[in-house]
Amino acid sequence: MNFNPAENIQDLQYFGEFGGVNPSISDSSTYTFLSAKTMFDTFEGNADGCYLYSRHSSPSNLYLGEALAAMEGTETANVAASGMGAITPVLLQLCNAGDHIVSSRTIYGGTYAFLKYFTPKLGIETSFIDITKLAIVEAAITKNTKVLYCESVSNPLLEVADIKGLSALAKKYNLKLVVDNTFSPLSISPAKLGADVVCHSLTKFINGSSDTVGGVVCGSQEFINDLRNVNDGASMLLGSTMDSLRAASVLKNMRTLHIRMKQHSYNAAFLADKFQADGLKTVYPGLESHSSHQLFKSMMNPEYGFGGMLTIDVGSLEKANELMELMQHKNLGYLAVSLGFYKTLFSAPGSSTSSEIPEEEQKEMGLSDGLIRFSIGLDNDIERTYQMMKSCMVEVGVL
Ligand SMILES: *Cc1c(COP(=O)(O)O)cnc(C)c1O
Repeated sequence: MNFNPAENIQDLQYFGEFGGVNPSISDSSTYTFLSAKTMFDTFEGNADGCYLYSRHSSPSNLYLGEALAAMEGTETANVAASGMGAITPVLLQLCNAGDHIVSSRTIYGGTYAFLKYFTPKLGIETSFIDITKLAIVEAAITKNTKVLYCESVSNPLLEVADIKGLSALAKKYNLKLVVDNTFSPLSISPAKLGADVVCHSLTKFINGSSDTVGGVVCGSQEFINDLRNVNDGASMLLGSTMDSLRAASVLKNMRTLHIRMKQHSYNAAFLADKFQADGLKTVYPGLESHSSHQLFKSMMNPEYGFGGMLTIDVGSLEKANELMELMQHKNLGYLAVSLGFYKTLFSAPGSSTSSEIPEEEQKEMGLSDGLIRFSIGLDNDIERTYQMMKSCMVEVGVL
């Protein structure tokens, strides 16, 4: 496979209005037209290159979208004010009342809540299944199913979706395969493996500085046009638009994404190896012990590694909390949700980011109380970090 997401981003060339090396930021909510006719044509969607109103599109948002489409290898992309502001319009655009979605049961808590509690109000039902078993996925498909939904690497259990296999099912039953790739930017390119739509929360690795929320939908020109349609486009009408100033700052952060991902992956792989060798129950897709290690390997762009996320299970919520508080006290990272920051972030998903999922279901999917999710930071000397983490673990008695 000759697809290289970082090089595709690098190969884009921008010039600002005055020859600046960064594209100029368009600080306007509305745009003038020299003729009334062009304004009409733009409303009808027939005037390429014209801007109308910034909820529809703006130059800065298009620049960022172009970089993200290059990264995912899709025709185009539409940025949004948050990851949820990207994902929810996609599902509402693809489904009408009476339609059905087959979704992985291990997905981001907000997406789970949207499908479990919100879309049923609109007559859209979802079956939550174990995405790692294609036979179970296929058995859940009904005549009303329109969408297969999953995360390439799931939150928080780090299950890996067989995107090629799911894509074959989607084609067989004429469904759209929608993949949230937030946990594995650059490492996995879902559209190249057959996904129809790829979403990201830009809030995490892609922006990487935990200073904003943001999202993107990458897909075909036709689908993105549908989302932006002034009459029935879910992105246009629900109004989750990113601000131009923020789009410009996310684009600047994207330029270091490949360097950051390599360091996140290197550090996470190092710690996962050590934790496992110390006898901790460790989940990391880069470990041979991970049930989907070979699958991830078969799908990945190898130079970016297996990502920055890992989990350990320390047995109980009390131990997890004690350890996390101590690690924060020693400045090894922050007890915080979210991911993709330069500093390590840790949280206990059962009582935080996945608390939308009922306890019974958490148990069934293997989300235990003592689980700690780590987003490993960009630490310069990871051996030193490991030694410090280990002494915390010894102090609270998990090692
Ligand atoms: C954070 C996250 C989201 C939601 O993104 P926001 O930017 O918080 O709206 C969706 N999917 C995954 C996998 C996430 O981690």
